[in-house]
Amino acid sequence: MILLRGGTVVTMDARRSVIRADVLVAEGRIEKIGRVRAAKAKVIDCAGKAIIPGLIQAHVHLCQALFRNHADGLELLDWLSQRIWPYEAAHDARSLGFSARLGIAELLLGGTTAVLDMATVHHTEAVLEAARESGVRYTGGKCLMDAGDGPLREETNAALAEAERLGRKWHGRGLIRWALCPRFALSCSEELLHAVRALGAREGWLVHTHASENRAEVELVRKQTGRDNIEYFDHLGLCGPRTVLAHCVHITESETRMMAQRGASAVHCPGANLKLASGHAPVPRMLAAGVNIALGGDGAACNNTLDAFHEMRLAATLHLPQFGPRAMPAAEVMAMATVSGAKALGLGAEIGSLEEGKRADIAVVDLSAPHCQPAGPDLHTTIVYCACASDVTDVLVDGRPVVRSRKLLTLDAARLAAEAGREMRRVLARISETKVSFRGN
Ligand SMILES: [Zn+2]
Repeated sequence: MILLRGGTVVTMDARRSVIRADVLVAEGRIEKIGRVRAAKAKVIDCAGKAIIPGLIQAHVHLCQALFRNHADGLELLDWLSQRIWPYEAAHDARSLGFSARLGIAELLLGGTTAVLDMATVHHTEAVLEAARESGVRYTGGKCLMDAGDGPLREETNAALAEAERLGRKWHGRGLIRWALCPRFALSCSEELLHAVRALGAREGWLVHTHASENRAEVELVRKQTGRDNIEYFDHLGLCGPRTVLAHCVHITESETRMMAQRGASAVHCPGANLKLASGHAPVPRMLAAGVNIALGGDGAACNNTLDAFHEMRLAATLHLPQFGPRAMPAAEVMAMATVSGAKALGLGAEIGSLEEGKRADIAVVDLSAPHCQPAGPDLHTTIVYCACASDVTDVLVDGRPVVRSRKLLTLDAARLAAEAGREMRRVLARISETKVSFRGN
């Protein structure tokens, strides 16, 4: 048993209650929120701290954490073809596992407890092993690419067969769940997307892809399919409650209504959308239409951070010039990174809020530093506008402590940071050896 004692609990329940209370964790679940006397429990002192649901990022690429600061100054399609695809193709199992651990270390230390990830095409089990070792709540899968140019393209049936085999092997193992991850419309044949729909429906797996991130991408999809990007996915049956579409920057009004009606989730990635000069999704309009919107850092190669607080602050401020100063209340921004993220992952009944009976995915945030004080009457505001990843002191995932007093317990974060540069140089050396070309100008 673990007792989080004396904190302020930002529950993110339906009423967005914030209460002074203790939180008792037993057997992976939140047993009690209130005044607790439990003599046998291990105590974490939370005086002066906020106890919040573990943050959820519903769109990340752990395989790209190692490429941080190595892909700047490009728009999406050049960024992919000139940097990311050659980099991903040059991963071996070792560098990929390293990249996943580096990304997970950043995520857990910053209070993110659950992710929806898109791995790369090869060596997927290196990511899954890293996730298992780290204790993060991981949903994700092998990236599927069977169309277009580039070094990652696979034959359709071989790609699908591997995705099915790995999904059968890993889905439901501990905290790992499998997702089918076609990269984006331009990398996938219609045959592959049909098969993804059928396989996802049969196995109950999420379908996680990108849609309408960049204007040139949307134009190419329209040229190839005669439809807008999300409309095209809907036409293929890929716009339902188990579909998660990252970005949706250039979404049309009819696509917005479609996503709300079908129950598909969008993932807002403001940091990546700004850095790749993509634009930004009309989030207040989509929320008003009833679309479920989660939040994601996307990749460390296009952001260049996986800090959920950074994404919350951007989501809270980015839309105000267009939609007005009250368009993004802090509690609703926090909902995107908690309850809405849980819903996108299909885990709304299990995680996303601090309520008795739910799984104990919890972050403790120290609000005593000058940059958070005075805290003000609404703690959601302090967390969204003032707090940052380094204010997180303790993290539990499924009741298991993974961060204690700002120290990661499951991975060697200092070693990962110290050796990341050397590991990335090995990846770059493999690119020059194999002469994987950087296409474009
Ligand atoms: Zn992405």
